[in-house]
Formats: sequence, structure tokens, C-alpha cells
Amino acid sequence: MFINGEWVTNRQQFPVTNPATGETIGEVPDCTDEDIESAITAADTAFGDWKKTTTYQRSQLLYRAWELMIRRKRELAVLMTREQGKPLKASLNEVQYGADFLLWFAEEAKRTYGQTIPSSRENQRFIVHKSPVGVVGAITPWNYPISMITRKLAPALAAGCTVILKPAESTPLCAKAMMEIFAEAGFPAGVINCITVQNPARVGTAFCTDPRIRKLTFTGSTPVGKELNGLAAANMKRVSMELGGHAPAIVFPDADPVHAAKGLSLVKYLNTGQACISPNRIFVHEGHLEPFISELTSRTKRLKAGNGMNEGVGIGPLINELALQKVDRQVKDAVARGAKIETGGQRLTEGELGAGFFYAPTVLSGVTEAMAIYQEETFGPVAPIIAYKSEDDVIAMANDTDYGLAAYIYSNNISTAIRAFEALDFGIIGINDINPTSAAAPFGGMKNSGLGREGAQEGIEEYLETKLGGLVI
Ligand code: NAD
Repeated sequence: MFINGEWVTNRQQFPVTNPATGETIGEVPDCTDEDIESAITAADTAFGDWKKTTTYQRSQLLYRAWELMIRRKRELAVLMTREQGKPLKASLNEVQYGADFLLWFAEEAKRTYGQTIPSSRENQRFIVHKSPVGVVGAITPWNYPISMITRKLAPALAAGCTVILKPAESTPLCAKAMMEIFAEAGFPAGVINCITVQNPARVGTAFCTDPRIRKLTFTGSTPVGKELNGLAAANMKRVSMELGGHAPAIVFPDADPVHAAKGLSLVKYLNTGQACISPNRIFVHEGHLEPFISELTSRTKRLKAGNGMNEGVGIGPLINELALQKVDRQVKDAVARGAKIETGGQRLTEGELGAGFFYAPTVLSGVTEAMAIYQEETFGPVAPIIAYKSEDDVIAMANDTDYGLAAYIYSNNISTAIRAFEALDFGIIGINDINPTSAAAPFGGMKNSGLGREGAQEGIEEYLETKLGGLVI
């Protein structure tokens, strides 16, 4: 843990496991209630001076942290693969994506413009000023264990807020490595703090109820997000919520089904399907079913599962036994209700895979709305294919979910694509694009997928208060 510029290690420890091998790769302290109190006090005290720094000073520190991240890219990626399981190439991509937020907000820090507003009264002036929200409590998940940290901390720090980070209990080592980078970059003591905990509810409650914390930023599952949002609302805290997803992908009759299958195979199995924007329901026009299924199945069969440190591995383990059981339950339920397994459909236990949490990349055809996989977020390497007949039907089916994070469209007709883009109730829509994300673009969802946006111009607004000055001259 990193509290008030000091490393805190002398506590009861909990282990960190490599999900590909089951080996313990480290241990971290389980915070006490006094540690939570110390971290809040440190962030609150540091806020007094930090908010007075110029945007140029804050920008310089973020830029230095960016440089350090880029210099240590490989080291961070190796740690991520060992702790989280994704293939090394995917970890390298994530470290780059994570670093992008530091650079982007080093630049945006200098653009937190205010306004002057004309008044109807001749002797009155209005000035609008942006000031930092205050102390921020940040809770991050394990699936993107570095970029979810920088996507929150970079805008918070750029805005002039101080932060207490609580990373996921499965991936605290990545958080520790990021703390080392922030410390080396020269952020003053107390500006960034990190506490690790095995049972996170205590920290969540403190973040939502302590009056010194002014904002909660959370990325994780919808049920936990709703619970924390309720608690934060009772205490009138600002919140940002990046929650679960259930992304539809639509292959329109005017798309090339083989090209669509190629793209969707790449995005579906990214991070073993453990991504909030992973396509969870693939709607294919009935005229395209045969070529689409055939291409997707052949690409899925070619994926090699294994330890992400090994050459040629395209799919890593799931994070733990519980995640594996959820995927297996959804597949079994779909098959019992009439779905067909085109490939995969079982746990992988051969050789070294037996020690980890591996599930075969799976294509399911004949999926219908009666199946759990149609209704629930999967968070695993399963591609469920649903046939449809008309554009109106598919838009209604795609929108028929409580989630609203990401959606994907394949079409070679600009009118179809724009109609679908406008009709879909999702915050991020990839149009013939499997990677509609960037530090420069607003990321976030509608409905039960959350509140607020991260990255882009909007990202820093989440950490700013608007202050109005009305004056008579
Ligand atoms: P999770 O909700 O179990 O955990 C997320 C974080 O919340 C972890 O740090 C965990 O320790 C903490 N947490 C859990 N219970 C808590 C409590 N009672 N009080 C305080 N903190 C608590 O989710 P997960 O399984 O780690 O992550 C996967 C979920 O995250 C998926 O639903 C996924 O879609 C979502 N996600 C969303 C985005 C996004 O940007 N929208 C990005 C990544 C992941």
C-alpha cells in the first residue's frame, strides 16, 4: 500500500495468483480501518496545496509519469500477463492504452477553461471558473488492471484532485507498479494513495460515507456499482460509474459476412472475452448465417489457449474458478434449450492447462432469447449467434437489454449504418470498427452500464466543479 508517500507493508497479507498456472506470485497487505483513515486524511491534507498548483505543474508530472510508463512498458506488460493472464501482446497494448491517458490528460489539464457570460444588467458581470471536486475515491477492476487506473487517476490529478485508489484484489501488483511510477514521477506525498484489501466492502463504505471524500469513481459490475451509487447518493457525492455491458453486434445483409466474422473473432476473444465491451450477442442476418458461422468457427478453432507468456498463445485463462463456472453454466443452459456448439463448449484441462482456469473458445449457433446467455453478461470466450430477418427486428432485439455500453455494426451501406447508429441505445458504437476506443474519445454507457464518461474532453469534467461569480461593478 502507498499512503502519504510511504510504503505500508507490515500488515496481514493476502496472496496474488497467476490464473494460468495457479501459482502464488506475490502477496499484498490487507488494509486495516486505520489505514483507510490514514489514506483519507493524507489525501484530504494534500488537497490543500495540490489544488493550488498550476495546471502546467500538474501537466509536467503527468507527462513524466507517461515517460516512465513507456520506458517500462515491457516490464509492466510481463507483470500484467503473470497477474491477470492475458497474452503478452495484449498486455503491451494495454500498457500503451493506459499510458495514453497520462499523455492526453497532461494536455487537457491546460484546457480547463472557464467562461464569462453577458448579463442583462449593464453593471453586472458573470465569471465561470472550474475548480477540482476534491478528494476522489477510485475503485478499479481486474480485467484491465493498468488502464482502468490511469483512465481515472490521470483526469483526477490533471483537474487538481487528490486520490485514494483501491484496485481489485486479483490484480494489486499492477497497481503497486503504477504507484512506483507516480512516486518516481514526483507527485507530492498524499496526492496519490493506494490501499489493498481482500474484502472490499469496508473501503467502498468509507469512500461513500466519509465527508472528506467528494467523489467516487467506480469501474466494475452493475450490482456493486448500483449498491455503491445508492450509498454515495445518500451522502450527495459526485459519482462516475463504468459498469457491465451486453454488447450486440449486428451483421446486416449489406455487409461482407466473412469480413464481419474476422473482425468479431478478434474482438470477441480479446482478453478471453473478459471485457465490458465484448460482443455478447451476435445478430446475423439469416441470409449470411452459413458463411459467417463457417468463418468464425474456423478462426475460433485456430486460437491457441495457454500461458500468455508463451509464443503463439491467442487466448489466456479466465480470472478464477467462479468466472469459469459462470461461462460453463451459460453454455450448458444454451445447449439444453436448443443451441448448437459449433466448436469449444468445455473446460480445457489437457497438460499444463489443467492448473489454470481455461475454457475453450466457443461458438454457439441457434441462440434464442430464452437462454441465459442472451440475457446476461458472459465475460468469457463464447460467441453466441442469433439469426434475424429484418432491420426493425434486429434493432429492437439489440436494444432489448438493461445495459447500454457498446454495440457493433457491420454494413457496407452508409444509410443502413447511420440508421442503426442513431437507433441503438448504446454509448459506444463501432461501425465496421472493432476498436472504437482511444484516450481521446469518450468512453461510457447508458442505462445500467453507468453514469459519466472517461477519456476525451468529457473525462476531466467529471473531476471539476463549476463555480459562478456574479459581480456588480
Ligand atoms: P466487481 O464489481 O466484482 O469488482 C470491481 C471492483 O469493485 C473491484 O475492485 C472490487 O474489489 C470492488 N468491489 C466489489 N465489491 C465491492 C463493494 N461491496 N464495495 C466496494 N468495492 C467493491 O467487478 P469485476 O468482476 O472485478 O469486474 C468485471 C465487471 O466490470 C464486469 O461487469 C465488466 O463489464 C465491468 N467493467 C466495466 C468497464 C467499463 O468501463 N464500463 C470496464 C471494465 C470492467
